[in-house]
Amino acid sequence: MELNLLKGQVDNILVMGKSGAGKQPRIDVFIQEFGLEQLSTGDIFRSCLKAFDKIEYPGNVDDFYDTWAKEFIPDKAIKQLIKSYLGNHSFDEVLMGIRAKYYVTNGLFVPDSVTNDLFLSSFKNKKYRGVVLDGYPRTVEQAKFLVSVLEKKNRRIDAIVLVDNDDETILNRVTGRRVCPNCRKVFHMEYKPLKDGKYCTNCGTEATTRIDDKRESVLTRLNEYRVKTQPAIEYLVSCGIPLIVVPGNLPVLSDEAVKSSVMDAITNYQDVPFKFVQ
Ligand SMILES: [Zn+2]
Repeated sequence: MELNLLKGQVDNILVMGKSGAGKQPRIDVFIQEFGLEQLSTGDIFRSCLKAFDKIEYPGNVDDFYDTWAKEFIPDKAIKQLIKSYLGNHSFDEVLMGIRAKYYVTNGLFVPDSVTNDLFLSSFKNKKYRGVVLDGYPRTVEQAKFLVSVLEKKNRRIDAIVLVDNDDETILNRVTGRRVCPNCRKVFHMEYKPLKDGKYCTNCGTEATTRIDDKRESVLTRLNEYRVKTQPAIEYLVSCGIPLIVVPGNLPVLSDEAVKSSVMDAITNYQDVPFKFVQ
């Protein structure tokens, strides 16, 4: 079976891969070549959190959670509490911000239902079409939700683009990263060295490692990917969505090289049974 992806006729593309595999440059190809827009769950998440912070509610997110019933108080009651702070902010967005923030500030895993709601609100705004999905779905539950939404709305995912990269390369790339706390410039111990191995070449401040870039954090994310996201990809493939594997590691990393590797993978697509090697 040939895969015909034509600009203007693509509904949606899913870009998947381990955290640190190099998804963004591939996402950029779909933005430029197919005129799609990026829909990143991380961005939606951050904007909802911001929406709640912006209303300057003097209390705490715990005010909206009934610990005895183990659920949020009814939306109506939440509205009552924040009504006078809402101004011209959207209640729905603030409400999602409250839910997300509750889990994040309490260090809890964000339930799929909350992530699904967040995703759906943005996907709906795009009329369920014209996007590169990034960071979603991450679990089988989320994948099932996505498939049911697409079926209901008569939309599709034209292809899953899997950015393939091995753990060692990712560990090396991510743990070698350093950031200047002053001017935010990003370095790499090997590929983009600091001055005297320590200082920002731009402003001279001593660079640091982000918590997310520490070895332990990277290993946790890699493990989560294997346990939760790989089965989600397998589920989507079982629903008949074509899977295109693109290399995350290229001998030369230029925009041009990334673009041709993605385009080649689309041209050479073959409908063969797929299973992750553990
Ligand atoms: Zn700096």
